[in-house]
Amino acid sequence: MAFLDHNPALGYPLAAGLGLLVGSFLNVVILRLPRRLEWQWKRDSREILGEPDLYDPPPPGIVVERSHCPHCGHQLSWYENIPVVSWLALRGRCRSCKAPISVQYPAIELLTMLLFAACVWRFGFGWQGFGALVLTGFLIALSGIDARTQLLPDSLTLPLMWLGLIASLDNLYMPAKPALLGAVVGYASLWSVWWLFKQATGKEGMGHGDFKLLAALGAWCGLAGLLPIILLSAVTGAIVGSIILAVRGRDRATPIPFGPYLAVAGWVTFMWGHDLTAFYLRVSGLQ
Ligand SMILES: [Zn+2]
Repeated sequence: MAFLDHNPALGYPLAAGLGLLVGSFLNVVILRLPRRLEWQWKRDSREILGEPDLYDPPPPGIVVERSHCPHCGHQLSWYENIPVVSWLALRGRCRSCKAPISVQYPAIELLTMLLFAACVWRFGFGWQGFGALVLTGFLIALSGIDARTQLLPDSLTLPLMWLGLIASLDNLYMPAKPALLGAVVGYASLWSVWWLFKQATGKEGMGHGDFKLLAALGAWCGLAGLLPIILLSAVTGAIVGSIILAVRGRDRATPIPFGPYLAVAGWVTFMWGHDLTAFYLRVSGLQ
């Protein structure tokens, strides 16, 4: 790893290439994990309600099954599955039925590539850099799933929180105490907002996944990171949310997923939290 630190001409392309491959995998997670969960929930509900078991074949698994065209079922060969390149070569259309392929695929792959390069630029090629890649991958998957389905699956938020806490045992980014407090206070703060809102209006203003995601970000960014995360996500959420409402003209009760804003704010705080706080204190004349 020290070798890559001393040879960035090799290290950065390697991180970028890994980003493309991981991005390609994240596309599959974003698409298949919610369908998988929904299938399990329906099966569990039938069992709890004592309803007869239907014939309901499981949707494709995340790791094992090959990718198909969702329109015609054409199985993709390896050269139709190369990140970004295949999409460009096929001009965004299925080779068999010419149905358009979502721009989400190359977009997620390119995003993962750029963010992976940023991670190793910020943290180098050691364990700190590796941890940053793991956090980045989880946050991209969670943002994509929340934007599409308004879900933040426990099977992603909870492991992400545990990984942050485990990393703090070895003092990877911070000692264990601020990481643990970050997770606890992160969960409790959004839970309180949700509870007060519910008492005041009788409505659920937020999903429980949001509490768990902020708990996970607290474990990775520490207690001191929570305030910047909440402020950044609230400001960007308000700006982007009002643009979406203005453009689409939906009514105010339409749920807008908050997860992607938390994820972006959490990632920025994780990467440059100290610089941001110092910059803010200098600009505001507090220090
Ligand atoms: Zn097709």
